[in-house]
Amino acid sequence: MEKRDVVIVGSGPAGHTAALYSSRANLKPLVLEGHEPGGQLTTTTDVENFPGFPEGVQGPDLMDKMKKQAERFGTQYWQKNVVKVDLNKKPFLINCEDGTEIEAKTVIISTGASAKYLGLPNEKELIGKGVSACATCDGFFFRNKIVHVVGGGDTAMEEANFLTRFAEKVTIIHRRGSLRASKPMQQRVFDNPKIDILWNTVVEEILFDDNGVKGIRVKNTETNESTERQTDGFFLGIGHTPNTSFLGDQVQLDENGFIKTENGPDTNIPGVFACGDVQDPFYRQAITAAGSGCMAAMKVEKFLEDEESK
Ligand code: NDP
Repeated sequence: MEKRDVVIVGSGPAGHTAALYSSRANLKPLVLEGHEPGGQLTTTTDVENFPGFPEGVQGPDLMDKMKKQAERFGTQYWQKNVVKVDLNKKPFLINCEDGTEIEAKTVIISTGASAKYLGLPNEKELIGKGVSACATCDGFFFRNKIVHVVGGGDTAMEEANFLTRFAEKVTIIHRRGSLRASKPMQQRVFDNPKIDILWNTVVEEILFDDNGVKGIRVKNTETNESTERQTDGFFLGIGHTPNTSFLGDQVQLDENGFIKTENGPDTNIPGVFACGDVQDPFYRQAITAAGSGCMAAMKVEKFLEDEESK
């Protein structure tokens, strides 16, 4: 069986940075990359707020650079998905989807968060047939088409703006009368002539035929009036859920499912640390995720030193 001092689960900015620091500390980390290597930044385009890139950087490029930097110091990356962990055992036991088992003295959880869906009938079945939670991945397919984006936060604004590169018309549907998004992102939307906003509106149904999405039924929450709107694409931009299902109930979570951390990356289990979006309902930035990855790696180093000196 594979035995490691530190296994890092997840490969976004938090995981890569934890890998960089722990490999430079000679801990020979193993990163289990998961189903979406690079995490959410691989589904974004211009990252303009990561320091050190005055002209901005493409999300996938940034992740690629971080990975190469960690590999340079001996990090190993395995494209495997973790399905279960046993954190009551020492060393901890990690089970991957393909049956691989790994023993680890310490674990860093950096599994991030995944896009939320509304829970409408057929929503998930229509992914790839007009429904998407990733404008960067799928925007290209909506050249000169009509698309709708749900949500009032930065994700929805970013998606809507990005989609105007391809689509003829983009409509944002928001359940309230004011946006949650940051002021600059809101302004970009207001200034974009291809975007309009349906306020106080919820989506009731996705309309489709054999070729995929053809419309949506929406309801104005002030008038209770339902109307049908033609659309070729339906994009979700309503936030994200932390990826913790593989943990069972071993690690303490908060009421929204984020891992509870203290003193930086400490979880309720000594030797298990969490960093990045999986434990951060507030900042959720690449730079804060990277910073917390650094903290997790430094805590691992200290933990292993303390264990050795016992
Ligand atoms: P947010 O939680 O900020 O926003 C989610 C939006 O979706 C809200 O407007 C919310 O409405 C709406 N919503 C949630 N659930 C539903 C539902 N069931 N039905 C209808 N609407 C719903 O999530 P984001 O993903 O937008 O942003 C998360 C964090 O990531 C933020 O800190 C943001 O700043 C950051 N971010 C930064 C980016 C950048 O800088 N480039 C890009 C993307 C995100 P309501 O307002 O009524 O609650």
